[in-house]
Amino acid sequence: MLDFHTAASRMRTVKLLSVTAETPTVKSFAFVDELCAKGEPGQFVMVWIPGVDEVPMSLSTLDPEESLAAVAVKRVGEATQALHNMKTGEVIGVRGPFGSNYTISKASKVMIVGGGTGLASLAPLAERLVKEATEVIFLMGAETKSELLFHERVESLLSESRGQLIATTEDGSFGMKGLVTMLAEKLFKKEGGFSMVYTCGPERMMQKMFFLAAKFSVPLEASLERFMRCAIGLCGTCVIGKYRVCQSGPVFRDRQLHEVEDEFGLWRRGFDGTKIKIK
Ligand SMILES: Cc1cc2nc3c(=O)[nH]c(=O)nc-3n(C[C@H](O)[C@H](O)[C@H](O)COP(=O)(O)OP(=O)(O)OC[C@H]3O[C@@H](n4cnc5c(N)ncnc54)[C@H](O)[C@@H]3O)c2cc1C
Repeated sequence: MLDFHTAASRMRTVKLLSVTAETPTVKSFAFVDELCAKGEPGQFVMVWIPGVDEVPMSLSTLDPEESLAAVAVKRVGEATQALHNMKTGEVIGVRGPFGSNYTISKASKVMIVGGGTGLASLAPLAERLVKEATEVIFLMGAETKSELLFHERVESLLSESRGQLIATTEDGSFGMKGLVTMLAEKLFKKEGGFSMVYTCGPERMMQKMFFLAAKFSVPLEASLERFMRCAIGLCGTCVIGKYRVCQSGPVFRDRQLHEVEDEFGLWRRGFDGTKIKIK
């Protein structure tokens, strides 16, 4: 019998069990796959859209008892548009789970700061943390109300635990008006005692959280996105400084981010290796 990592790196074809519109631009795709369902919050899979492309996606649902997994996909280009056109019952391919995962803090108080599709990996993280009796202060940001991904899911989770969800929107259509990082800074000043900050979303947002966490001496983990082809450390497309995001990441500790500070939040690489400024 194959060990977990060898089995995980092989492509499996799976039927889409459900396709759910989460926001005007994001849909969830659920499927049955024992290996993906055994993944950890923060890990990703390579999703093959037949005839189109293979793209990395965070695991947004992890249900090992039902062998159920899902990804939440934002429509941004060719592959994600093709996936959005697919229906329940159609077939995709999956490889993984790959990469590092978030460290699970037990019986403590943590801050989770997410935006955009970064919330795809943070929702299952919150679900795991509350099982460990950890108090979760979840800060969720979006440009506008309709783009707050998994708001109801996280709200209902935290209403049944010691946690709290606070949303921010840039246009003020829901929650507090402004950037989620401004709220994070206020909370750091007002209340202490955070044992960890987890963040995933636009890289400039994560960079700001990296500086804030350092200022208030709170450990941080951030999940990075880079172009990826192989996901097994061979192609080098996802390189940041001395790291390959598919192998050492996507979840990085603050000490690792210090080592790549001249790239983190500033530069990423295109498929041909050229440096592209992060806006
Ligand atoms: C570890 C990891 C986890 C991810 N998780 C999710 C997720 O949960 N949900 C989700 O919607 N997306 C996620 N992504 C991003 C996703 O892989 C890309 O959006 C997707 O590959 C775009 O494919 P496309 O053919 O539709 O777009 P393309 O036509 O390839 O590109 C469209 C636009 O998106 C940008 N883009 C494409 N790929 C990336 C990338 N990897 N990083 C940064 N910008 C990119 C391009 O520069 C371009 O502007 C993740 C990426 C990584 C590396």
